[in-house]
Amino acid sequence: MDVFGRLASVIPDYEHRPEQLALADAVARSLATEEHLLAQAGTGTGKSLGYLLPALESGRRVVVATATKALQEQLLTKDVPLAAAALGRTVRVAVVKGRQNYLCRKRVEGVQLSGLGLLGGREAEAGYDRLLPWIGSTTTGDRAELEEEPSASLWAELAVGPDRCLGRRCLHVARCFAEKARQRAGEADLVIANHALYFADLALREHADGASVLPEHEAVIFDEAHKLEESAASWLGARITAGAVRRLATDVVQAASEAGIRLPPRAEARVEAAIEILLRQVVPPNGRRRLREVPREQALVLIDELERIAQALWGHRDELDAVAARARKLANDVATCLEPPTPNLVVWSEPGLLAYAPVDVSDRLRESLWSEGPTAILVSATLDYGFVARRLGLEYAERFDAGSPFDFRTQALLYVPREVAEPRDESVADEVEALCRLSRGRALVLTTSYRMLDVLAARLRDGLPYEVLVQGEAPRERLLERFRAETDSVLVATSTFWQGVDVAGESLSLLVMDKLPFASPGDPLTEARCEWIVEHGGDWFRDYALPVATLQLRQGFGRLVRGHADRGVAAILDPRIYTRAYGEHLVEALPPCRLVDDLAEVERFFAEEGAAQSEATSVLT
Ligand code: SF4
Repeated sequence: MDVFGRLASVIPDYEHRPEQLALADAVARSLATEEHLLAQAGTGTGKSLGYLLPALESGRRVVVATATKALQEQLLTKDVPLAAAALGRTVRVAVVKGRQNYLCRKRVEGVQLSGLGLLGGREAEAGYDRLLPWIGSTTTGDRAELEEEPSASLWAELAVGPDRCLGRRCLHVARCFAEKARQRAGEADLVIANHALYFADLALREHADGASVLPEHEAVIFDEAHKLEESAASWLGARITAGAVRRLATDVVQAASEAGIRLPPRAEARVEAAIEILLRQVVPPNGRRRLREVPREQALVLIDELERIAQALWGHRDELDAVAARARKLANDVATCLEPPTPNLVVWSEPGLLAYAPVDVSDRLRESLWSEGPTAILVSATLDYGFVARRLGLEYAERFDAGSPFDFRTQALLYVPREVAEPRDESVADEVEALCRLSRGRALVLTTSYRMLDVLAARLRDGLPYEVLVQGEAPRERLLERFRAETDSVLVATSTFWQGVDVAGESLSLLVMDKLPFASPGDPLTEARCEWIVEHGGDWFRDYALPVATLQLRQGFGRLVRGHADRGVAAILDPRIYTRAYGEHLVEALPPCRLVDDLAEVERFFAEEGAAQSEATSVLT
């Protein structure tokens, strides 16, 4: 593609990358033939420009849906301007966010008419007063414009999600901020959204109630596609929270009083009490609990209260029907938890909520998206084609692997000890401390549990002469900034840090994973998916647990080498790599590098690095 030739004139240190060109060709082919595509493009490929340029050259409207805000931001501020410069033209791009990110004029009018008492407290009233100048002057209504974040409870009064939006029936629709954002997106060549919004929009389209936010488009590119199953499961499931019931109750009272309608006695208090009691009976103190049975009596009380509200409001006028429909939707969600209409549903609770989700999303995606929808291009640095195709129902998609531009044989070393003595925590802490000394800090330590996070944080803080940063002690981005800036610091983290951490250069020279990242078999979704696979003739370990762990391990490993100059050691402190049949599979799934079991090899690796550095320094001096 000629346009990649022009990239060199807009990016001073641009190097032609065959992997990027190959990805661009595959994306262009998919857009031309309208065949869905599963594309794997490793770190360093330049995948964003690899798909943006063919998408923009295709002349079609394309939606790019990402899993994280960070990637959206990078596309908007860095990659799209570069693509526009290489194309030599303006690119019309719009970022579309969920409706709840925009000020709702109807809600603001409600506060103005009913008084600040509606906001529920002095703090919220003071917060509202501070927002007034912005409310009076904003032209976008986008909360991202605000320097001071409003409290979640205040914002919930001033913005609405699709469930509370009246859509075309709203008297303010012509001046609605969310609608204007939608119109801007309708004029754009490229629309940037996130997975959750994409699926939420699909649901709105299916119900055709006019509240969808994405414009018509001919193709969708799902970046960070390894997270797509979870996004789809959330879209097809529901979460029932006390907050949602409380907001409904407030809206019911307001709508009824505006319309002069009598509600059943104490309707607001009764429905709020019903959800509180139900949640108290099912919610665990922490973590998630699978619910094979929901307390019947209490669930029926809640359904009954919601239905009484719906009946009182229904049939008077559109606005009241919309609130009644919300009450019915909530009642249906509770009924679904009580008696799942299909075995393809798992119900669970966790602090603050009751939820359900489909165990397997493949049929629904086939039906709603892959057979009728736009051309879909799924891109990720780590895709296991067979697994992803099976889980998402995309068996007939084209497959493409761009490979990696890095030479892992020279840039990385994989260290796995043959033994970790008991007590395990103690031995792992010894190993991690020894490794961090050899690497002179500069380490990201990933744990598979919060308990191990605490054990390692305490030990490393006691034993190392380097700054030790710990997940949870500062916001994620702040921690990463400090980790980049303080070259010899050590960052200890779990869960979300296994993915999306991009630290190029010396600061990340050692990556430690305390254990193979198998998902907890007691997690409701994991357990239900494994059962489902067995019931359908599969093998839960081979078909689910192992591919998920492999993907997570590859994501974790992917933090190590982010550039051609990066060199580092990945340590997996789990001897099952040698002793279990699946160990070989896991090693083969990682980029090809030398596997060692002796700490002396790690010492040699870092000593060679030190020697190379002093050689470079003496040449310079
Ligand atoms: S259309 Fe929806 S979001 Fe817009 S002002 Fe009306 S209720 Fe609020």
